Amino acid sequence: MSSNHELFQRAQALMPGGVNSPVRAFKSVGGEPFFTARADGAYLWDVEGTRYIDYVGSWGPMIVGHNHPHVREAVERAVKNGLSFGTPCPAEVTMAETITRLIPSVDMVRMVNSGTEATMSAIRLARGATGRNKIVKFEGCYHGHGDSFLVKAGSGALTFGVPTSPGVPKANADLTLTLPYNDLDAAKALFAEHGTDIAGLIIEPVAGNMNCILPNDGYLQALRTLCTQYGALLIFDEVMTGFRVALGGAQAHYGVTPDLTTFGKIIGGGMPVGAYGGRRDLMEQIAPSGPIYQAGTLSGNPVAMAAGLAMLELIQAPGFYDQLASRTRLLTDGLQAVADGEGIAFSTNRVGGMFGLFFTADKVTSYTQATKADTAMFNRYFHGMLQRGVYLAPSAFEAGFLSSAHSDDDLALTLQASREVLRAMRT
Ligand code: PLP
Repeated sequence: MSSNHELFQRAQALMPGGVNSPVRAFKSVGGEPFFTARADGAYLWDVEGTRYIDYVGSWGPMIVGHNHPHVREAVERAVKNGLSFGTPCPAEVTMAETITRLIPSVDMVRMVNSGTEATMSAIRLARGATGRNKIVKFEGCYHGHGDSFLVKAGSGALTFGVPTSPGVPKANADLTLTLPYNDLDAAKALFAEHGTDIAGLIIEPVAGNMNCILPNDGYLQALRTLCTQYGALLIFDEVMTGFRVALGGAQAHYGVTPDLTTFGKIIGGGMPVGAYGGRRDLMEQIAPSGPIYQAGTLSGNPVAMAAGLAMLELIQAPGFYDQLASRTRLLTDGLQAVADGEGIAFSTNRVGGMFGLFFTADKVTSYTQATKADTAMFNRYFHGMLQRGVYLAPSAFEAGFLSSAHSDDDLALTLQASREVLRAMRT
């Protein structure tokens, strides 16, 4: 079997940066990525047999842990009937029924193949439905790699210092207005100037692509009010937060009703799936019931639907989210206590099953604060943890994810590793 290093050498000659998605390359933390051979529960094993406690969870989907038998068996059953039909299939209907039941703001839904497709389609709908062209997004928020969103973007774009990507036509970028997250006065001022040209405002209701930043009290509701006042659509990008911070997503957790919502990650159970949905009068404008075009050869794929539905069954277990949230709290409180004990400036954010770690003493509530936290410290911490078998997201600008498979022992091992790493970093 090849080593991690050998595989990365081969990969770099053949794929840009050796990867198929930028952050995987470890560029911001330095060093080389490991290549995963297998995953189960809370763990990844690389090709050299090293085990890691995984706090990335395939960047969010693996909320019940990797390779859960209920999901795997649903996929195995579906595969026996064929991989793709190109006609409607029953699982798509069950999926639409499940999403619309769990997310009351979604009357109708369209399945796609990634979060990027979901957000691109949602803003097309917003533009088509309002007859306006401008959209508003937030600095440090990431909505996939559609042209309109790679303007002051988060995630890998932020990590690599190219928040506004070359290749996005200026004419396109000019239609994307950006705002600082959690700054209501700035939003009010922007709407006062451009409100009647704005088709929609898209936001990660919990920002998870500039580390993890929670909305201030009342902030999302105030954005709802602004959008209503100016006739702009409020789009919650719940690709990350959907079924992650609560069963009903961030909109249930914060009690705010968007016009449109985008989904991805968890609804696919680990398969490539996204979705967008919302008010019936808006969704009915999508082809073929309406004129706004959007399509997909593999959309609603039967195997992907089977995986997603099995996942959505598991997370509806009574108490699932209470337990996930309380374990996430145990982890972040534990990490904070360890850092305090070692005299290291450190703070955490968390909601439901997602969390953020910052090397700063401040409570982080803004993009500016997140970018001011000590990334060099994070990079050393990341590698120290990795050496001790704990895999955190390989960038200071990504959220962490817990799964229901993380055990007390996993948390204890993580805290012990953190203590050792921070102690070594002090000296
Ligand atoms: N929106 C959010 C909030 C995301 O976190 C992501 C990906 O991380 C996307 C959209 C894009 O999803 P995908 O990578 O499936 O295209």
